[in-house]
Amino acid sequence: MSAPKPTPLHAAPIFRSEDELARLPASERIRYRLVAAECRWHANDNIAEHIRDGELDELRAEVESKMHEVLKALVIDTESDHNTNDTARRVAKMFINEVFRGRYVPMPDVTEFPNVERLNELMIVGPIKVRSACSHHLCPILGKVWIGLLPNEHSNLIGLSKYARITDWIMSRPQIQEEAVTMLANELQERVKPDGLAIVMEADHFCMHWRGVKDDSSAMTNSVMRGAFLKDANLRREFLSLLSKKNT
Ligand SMILES: [Zn+2]
Repeated sequence: MSAPKPTPLHAAPIFRSEDELARLPASERIRYRLVAAECRWHANDNIAEHIRDGELDELRAEVESKMHEVLKALVIDTESDHNTNDTARRVAKMFINEVFRGRYVPMPDVTEFPNVERLNELMIVGPIKVRSACSHHLCPILGKVWIGLLPNEHSNLIGLSKYARITDWIMSRPQIQEEAVTMLANELQERVKPDGLAIVMEADHFCMHWRGVKDDSSAMTNSVMRGAFLKDANLRREFLSLLSKKNT
């Protein structure tokens, strides 16, 4: 007889009643739902669908109390030091409501319009400001992103400001730059359905300035090219040349 398989870490949880769940900390309750729904909850995943009304406030309180423990472990006297008195609360609020907000709130409302004018010319949106953080150190990543689109008659068009809102939603999570641009590309591909999609992101990683090599020239650029941008070198060149003109 073969030995029983070890239970994987993310195994389906034992069934719990709503009453039992209600007694758990909000983070555990949400994790329970994620496991049950077989969803991933990596740092750059959006988990809004599994969070119920009022639970974000509970999460914030939970992060605040853990942040207190972190400050204690750093041997910082948050009681007499008026500067750090309220730091745990501020950091919790910053994480949940601001810099990692893109994990906890649903995708912004975006109205799509049919391409009645049958626009089929290269369209460039950007630079869009990027404010993110690296998953490795939770240090800021600041930069910009350019989006190139080649619509066809079946594409859905979205308002210009919506590109910035979708970008912000994807970036306001602990991210890895390569994964961030792919996530953004997938989202836009699905909504707009263009013939071609190109994204270039250029960003400064503060973990390179603040720690480690302390390198001051640490901008990282990467890109995603899809559809017509992959097949057509001229289109790709046109996009990149317009982008470099815009950047100066
Ligand atoms: Zn980092």
